[in-house]
Amino acid sequence: MKPRPKKPAVPSPKDDTVRHEILAFLSTGEPVSALQISGEVRIPEREVCGHLEHIRRTLRATGRRLVVVPAKCDGCGFVFHKRDRLTRPGKCPICGTGHVREPLFSVDEDVA
Ligand SMILES: [Zn+2]
Repeated sequence: MKPRPKKPAVPSPKDDTVRHEILAFLSTGEPVSALQISGEVRIPEREVCGHLEHIRRTLRATGRRLVVVPAKCDGCGFVFHKRDRLTRPGKCPICGTGHVREPLFSVDEDVA
């Protein structure tokens, strides 16, 4: 038997609207956190990252890109560069404090 194809991703109109609003909010120039996005678009913070992943993929086709200011530890200055996930790290792997500044997001023209 052939493996069943993955369920096709049918974006609901609501998701489209939410992403449109997030994109508009990201396009204002100031980097914003997932928490700020959640407050602006009125969705739970934990849902913001999923939408950001989707926006990051779709932006590539439009000559723009999602700019991520990586999370940074306030305790020792460790920057979470390698972290590809968009969620906020729980605590610093170096010094173990929980004082990690959350990543910030904005949208920029892709000049590459
Ligand atoms: Zn640290």
